[in-house]
Amino acid sequence: MTRFNVLTLFPQMVKEAMSVSIIGRSQKKSIIDIKCYDIRDYSTDKHKKVDDTPYGGGKGMVMMAEPIARCYEDICKNSATTPLFIYMSPAGKQFTQKIAKELSKYSNIALLCGHYEGIDERVLDKFVDERISIGDYVLTGGEIPAMVLIDAVCRMIPGVLSDSECFEKESYYNNLLEHPHYTKPALWRGISVPDVLLSGNHSEIEKWRNENSISQTLKYRKDLINN
Ligand code: SAM
Repeated sequence: MTRFNVLTLFPQMVKEAMSVSIIGRSQKKSIIDIKCYDIRDYSTDKHKKVDDTPYGGGKGMVMMAEPIARCYEDICKNSATTPLFIYMSPAGKQFTQKIAKELSKYSNIALLCGHYEGIDERVLDKFVDERISIGDYVLTGGEIPAMVLIDAVCRMIPGVLSDSECFEKESYYNNLLEHPHYTKPALWRGISVPDVLLSGNHSEIEKWRNENSISQTLKYRKDLINN
């Protein structure tokens, strides 16, 4: 079983979103386990304070090091193996399908979700193994990025999808976008499905899919072909 430990100020947000559909079912089948830890529970302050003003001045608040350190240490103490500790950060390495595949080999991953201006750098330097960004834009918190990562990684864990072919033929797996899809009716508002897909000729369908995977990539993401 693969375990994801999410260190967050909003555990409910992650728990609820991850309890439905394929990810929810995979948890029920014990293929994966997503545990959320409320960083506030590890505050040493009587008001459960977890952030403070930045040294050097400026706007916004910074998440304090100690509650995060205590939370991570608690996760480690209760784990058979030390988790790979990832900080979701807009300044991290760009998340890709290749990284998702790599991460799917780990059995224990901890994801740190920041808020406000970010997190005291000292706790990041001391504990974090990787910093990962889901794109070159800034969100209000790390929960959505952590869920994006969990979702993409989970799809590659055996048993989560019905068949590995489900992801091996999808966009980005081989640096190509997937071919277009069509479903019933065969004629919709005067637009018909490509004839070959109705032919029942499997080798011709496969050829069409490969060709259209390349043409979709050239049309929408030419940069992938040059990589
Ligand atoms: N002041 C920070 C900066 O300029 O880099 C941005 C902090 S952001 C408002 C708050 C938190 O959201 C971050 O600590 C991080 O956990 C998360 N976050 C925001 N954008 C993200 C992204 N593109 N990828 C991953 N995490 C992100």
